[in-house]
Amino acid sequence: MARIVILLGAPGAGKGTQAARLSKARSLPHVSTGDLLRDHKARGTPLGQQAKVVMDKGGLVSDALVLDMLAERVAAADCREGYVLDGFPRTDVQARALEQRLKPTDQVLVFELKVADESIVARAAGRLACRGCASTYNLNGAAPRKAGVCDACGGELYRRSDDEPAVVRERLRVYHEKTAPLVNFYRERGLLASLDGEQTPDAVFGRLDGLIPGKVKH
Ligand SMILES: [Zn+2]
Repeated sequence: MARIVILLGAPGAGKGTQAARLSKARSLPHVSTGDLLRDHKARGTPLGQQAKVVMDKGGLVSDALVLDMLAERVAAADCREGYVLDGFPRTDVQARALEQRLKPTDQVLVFELKVADESIVARAAGRLACRGCASTYNLNGAAPRKAGVCDACGGELYRRSDDEPAVVRERLRVYHEKTAPLVNFYRERGLLASLDGEQTPDAVFGRLDGLIPGKVKH
């Protein structure tokens, strides 16, 4: 039996953070389609080269390409007991393709991290990075001592273009159009649990881990 954990939620809802923690706590590989894409691009594989052409034009990588990459990854020996998916499925086509690949013995657990759009926009707007070093800050909780200046190196802090409200809102629009319908897709199949993703990462993880059978004693 393989256990496949799917995390749904808007970009910026904290899926990556929770997937990484769950992966560690349950010894299941963290399979992030974003990481897979970057890895294939960096290695210059045929899939990576195809992805690069699309991404350089600002487009979305096709379902077929994502599915090929994912199929290759989860066929690896370390995924035999299961894996935690992050960033997949993102569309109805992807969800149906995944469903077809599953074995009857596979256990699928789907968690929705619910975070209001306005919270996601505010979180992103508060994130700052240093031009001088890799330090990052967040005005909501981890602000620098002096506004606009890096504590570590004195460098100038800036907001990444990815975190600009207009860009975040566009990603949210795409999410609501393409991915949010998957919440109902999995609810109809009785596989979905919804979690309040507005809480601290620790609190969200506590709930998430508690909902997965076979909890390991800490
Ligand atoms: Zn710095």
